Amino acid sequence: MKESEKARDNAQALNIRAAKAIVETVKSTLGPMGMDKMMVDGAGNVIVTNDGATILRELDVAHPGAKMMVEISKTQETLCYDGTTTTVVLAGQLLSNSEMLFEKGLHPNVICRGYHEASQMAIDYLLSDINMKKDNVLHEIAKTAITGKAVETSTDMVSTLCVDAVMAAGDIDKVRVISLHGGSIEESYLFKGVIVSKDFVLDYDLDEDTNALLLNTGLEEEKEKEHVKVQLDASSYSEFKQAGKEDLLSQAQHIVMKMNGKGIVFVRDGVHDHVCAYLRKNGVGVIRRTAPSTLNALSNALGISIAQTPEELDVPASINVSRQKHNDVYYLFISGDIESDQSTLILRGATQSTLDEMERGFDDALGVVSLVKDSHNVVSGGGSSFVAMAAYLRSHAATVGGRAQMAIEAFADALEIIPATIAENAGFDPLDTVLAIRHEIQNGNLHFGPNVNDGGVKDMQANGVLEPTELIKQAILSATEVTTSILRIDDIVSRRPVE
Ligand code: ADP
Ligand code: MG
Repeated sequence: MKESEKARDNAQALNIRAAKAIVETVKSTLGPMGMDKMMVDGAGNVIVTNDGATILRELDVAHPGAKMMVEISKTQETLCYDGTTTTVVLAGQLLSNSEMLFEKGLHPNVICRGYHEASQMAIDYLLSDINMKKDNVLHEIAKTAITGKAVETSTDMVSTLCVDAVMAAGDIDKVRVISLHGGSIEESYLFKGVIVSKDFVLDYDLDEDTNALLLNTGLEEEKEKEHVKVQLDASSYSEFKQAGKEDLLSQAQHIVMKMNGKGIVFVRDGVHDHVCAYLRKNGVGVIRRTAPSTLNALSNALGISIAQTPEELDVPASINVSRQKHNDVYYLFISGDIESDQSTLILRGATQSTLDEMERGFDDALGVVSLVKDSHNVVSGGGSSFVAMAAYLRSHAATVGGRAQMAIEAFADALEIIPATIAENAGFDPLDTVLAIRHEIQNGNLHFGPNVNDGGVKDMQANGVLEPTELIKQAILSATEVTTSILRIDDIVSRRPVE
């Protein structure tokens, strides 16, 4: 064997081994019966999760091959919110199958070409024949994403909440989620309005129905002035300070004038304590250091603009507000009297770790609902679409001819790892399950997947297990991409450290 070939074998073997080790850590979490992982860091902080992307993000990986796997799970999460474990497990199987092809003497380039060809054929078939256009399936989509995530007992209620939240906001980026420790998941609800996790600077006697103003600046002496080096004698210094104070006071007077009664002003930056005291004396409560995103949400919900300076303030909005204390933190629940799309999902859960896991489940579910909301493109879940694509590839591999054909067949075999793993994690035989799904496909039914409760197979579509077509497409693209990238690496060399 030539030196270069030895290096290649070595680099490939190491990368594949590292990547497969990553797959092993997440494989047992795939599907509704997947197990959870408990992750502990050096400081003893614990995360319990079933979410592939979270596990991989928290893993302390050093090997480049392993890092590439972690990367694709992030890509999948960014693009499709869900399907991260699926992507990684599929990539792992594509790598394993390529090892068999190496043994048969196929060059990595031939394998990569075959895999690319196969992924294109599979996706074309997915979009043309497996894809279904369906209305009114958002609940099922949300439910499929959330099954297996910390909310077992209330999947129906949780999926309804997710759908309502996305529909109310119109866009996933507008859905705000807040977790309030304590209570049970059933007490979660959608609040029409904005929640601000801040309290008044000074005790404030809050009325339930009051007014609000939004200010995109601060009300304190400007920091720069204190840092500028100017030579001032004592009297001009006190004049200088006095001018600053008067300026602040006149700004505060503007606020009082515009509020024209009692009300709350939300300020983006700091507010000097004296100013707060002055405002309170005049009936105005101050919330300072309000995050820009919160100000925007308030502006949306209340139908008023955010003023750049107190002089520019508009008329205040009338609001309804309640101040609540959860876990020693005060929250203001604020709603306006206009029709708005601003809503906040309030999650309740008994412990912080179940709440965190619930939040991850919600993220997935909100994401997949938003993917399907406009496109209506779905497929049956449980890995059924993967078996259908595999069957199609096997029957069409011969049209490609040459050695790449072997890679296409290997790709088809790898696709079936998804339903096989879902069945295996539920305690059933993976091979029997895949064979039974193949049998149904032979009879023209593309919707069968693993029955995770009783074993065997059942109609996923009839049982409402549906997922976005886009998610499957992206999982295949990402898995193929990472596999071929790893296969193309023929040597690992040390880089000169960055100076
Ligand atoms: P991922 O990180 O890839 O989303 P999950 O652990 O969330 O991994 O599992 C997703 C897989 O579980 C999908 O293939 C989905 O179709 C499948 N699935 C979800 N609910 C069911 C169910 N009730 N029966 C069978 N498969 C299911
Ligand atoms: Mg999922």
